[in-house]
Amino acid sequence: MNELAAEVARRRTFAIISHPDAGKTTLTEKLLLYSGAIQLAGAVRAKKAGRATTSDWMEMERERGISVTTSVMSFEYPHPELPPDAPPVQVNLLDTPGHADFGEDTYRVLTAVDAALMVIDGAKGVEERTEKLIEICRLRDTPVVTFINKLDRECLDPLELMSDVEKKLGMTCCPLTWPIGMGKRFKGVYDLMHNRLHLFQAQGHDKIQQGILVEGLHDPRLDELLGDQVDELRQAAELLGEASAPLDHAAFLAGKQTPLLFGSAMNNFGVRELLEAYIRLAPGPLAREAITGPAAATAPAPGEPVPTRRVAPTEEAFSGFVFKIQANMDPNHRDRMAFLRVCSGVFERGMRAHHCRLGREVGLGNATMFMARDREIVEAAYAGDIIGLPNHGTIKIGDTFTAGEQLRFTGIPSFAPELFRRVLLKSPLKAKALAKGLQQLAEEGAIQVFKPLVGSMFIVGAVGQLQLEVMKHRLKSEYDVDADYESVEYTTARWITPKPTTKSKIEVQKMLEGFQQKNQGNLAHDSHGDLAYLAPNKWNLAKVEERFPDLRFSSTREHT
Ligand code: GDP
Repeated sequence: MNELAAEVARRRTFAIISHPDAGKTTLTEKLLLYSGAIQLAGAVRAKKAGRATTSDWMEMERERGISVTTSVMSFEYPHPELPPDAPPVQVNLLDTPGHADFGEDTYRVLTAVDAALMVIDGAKGVEERTEKLIEICRLRDTPVVTFINKLDRECLDPLELMSDVEKKLGMTCCPLTWPIGMGKRFKGVYDLMHNRLHLFQAQGHDKIQQGILVEGLHDPRLDELLGDQVDELRQAAELLGEASAPLDHAAFLAGKQTPLLFGSAMNNFGVRELLEAYIRLAPGPLAREAITGPAAATAPAPGEPVPTRRVAPTEEAFSGFVFKIQANMDPNHRDRMAFLRVCSGVFERGMRAHHCRLGREVGLGNATMFMARDREIVEAAYAGDIIGLPNHGTIKIGDTFTAGEQLRFTGIPSFAPELFRRVLLKSPLKAKALAKGLQQLAEEGAIQVFKPLVGSMFIVGAVGQLQLEVMKHRLKSEYDVDADYESVEYTTARWITPKPTTKSKIEVQKMLEGFQQKNQGNLAHDSHGDLAYLAPNKWNLAKVEERFPDLRFSSTREHT
């Protein structure tokens, strides 16, 4: 294996997903414990993005420096199956906002990972937000490892939890560990893969837990250690032999089977097994689909075939794409950071790269990597790594950077918003600042901005109420603009493009003009200049679609 292939092979990049309160933050803290960054616990806690109330979110904003170091966290961990002197695994862990209002942000984070770690509250089973998140994972067949948390409390029966996951999330389950009792009777977990018993201690939250190795389920030492609960374990194991699927790595990689582990994040119990199972099973950096040639820079004409190719992580030439932009992280410097996932080759400090949307070479400046303890200047980054690029306004979500090839990585969409407001400005003198603020927030993906064809006031679109409140707060604090909202009658938006057709360009142009004339009051350009139809209700939308069969009304739009 050459050096590049070896570097790629030792990377694991994943996102943690869960319904709020299942224990994502606690689990993240404990995972970091294994990186040696023990003092970090407080830092993760301080972040807690997207909680139920706006004030929490604002509070988090104040601590933005921290929030960002913790929204991407990298650390090294020895590979559980390699000799101790082998190079460690580089784990890149991405946090996702827990609140449903930031679903779009979560979607984009999921485009940058190779697998996901799902946390489920054992007392609650599969909750609504988890179902949504798994739907998103399914769009890309993302492999999912499941952690059933809070076993130190009374939980649902483990077999019931398994069938809940299978039914609601459409994945078969393969338990790798099995709990022995729960709540007050929680004795520990049995590692079914390695015949190792882990006895539970409610103390020692900040210690790395070792297990006791036994010779299989019939080892008499289990009787000694577990007392009468050993029978429960043996019975469950027998039942499992019949009820659960054997580990099928291909099915896991295709997102059809999820390995399941039990534990208690708060007590740092079962976390090590989780991390090691994850490292063993989860894929390293995967190849990614990209549009090639001139079509990578411009939105191709509808119906025009677009040449694509899969970019392998071990290709020599550097490439990567931006999936997240975070603005004004440091209120003292109006900086914006673009988060880039490296897809191939090597990113090197001080390098210049081809900015595919702009079609020219640019300096990338000093990139940052978010190691568990600190931010570090990146000397070299490989496929799977997430780096932060300083952004002075030339980088947008979806931008691809390469060593020269014209490419655009695909699959990073915007979703049609469901909440719309007209933005009212308290002082007309601030019109310019408002336009700039809205443009930047839109580029960051924090909000969607529409400029109606008729009238001069902006309309913003969001997926959730909290997003609107946060936007108002940020307009004031970051751009010194007092804005208010007025309701508008729209409830959904569709991006408009002509369908592939045999008609001539002139005919298509005429049809589009006719459409615009008849629907002026409902049409707007988004922040990319693309045409969108804002509909008051489904009925109205269905009517226009019927009237203009040659147009495509899309509920998502790819970043170009
Ligand atoms: P998040 O919203 O998913 O990030 O959840 P948190 O990590 O903030 O956890 C939500 C609540 O559950 C907090 O009060 C945690 O202390 C608690 N919690 C997390 N893990 C456990 C666990 O293993 N057992 C128990 N009993 N509580 C837990």
